[in-house]
Amino acid sequence: MSCGLRLPPPVLDAYEWQDRALCRDAEVEVFFDFEGVRGRNLEAREEAAKAICRRCPVLQECLTHAMSAEDYGVWGGMTARERRDERNRRLLGSAAVS
Ligand code: SF4
Repeated sequence: MSCGLRLPPPVLDAYEWQDRALCRDAEVEVFFDFEGVRGRNLEAREEAAKAICRRCPVLQECLTHAMSAEDYGVWGGMTARERRDERNRRLLGSAAVS
């Protein structure tokens, strides 16, 4: 007798897109480690990461993942602050609809 529940897909499949990530070959400091970096230096660091993201073939998969799972660094062409703002916009939008 089946209860109708299914196991989630293998984690490896869910993260297969990371094999094609352009940031795999980048220095980790480009995408993370912004502690103590402020102002124009921070903007320049974030823009350098975003420039790589814009050329990345898995930008959409990455952003989908990051919107629900990543609170630090640049992922999917967005900074942590931008993702947090977007999450809040979506929450406010769904609250306004309901
Ligand atoms: S979109 Fe940016 S952070 Fe995401 S996998 Fe591509 S290069 Fe890496």
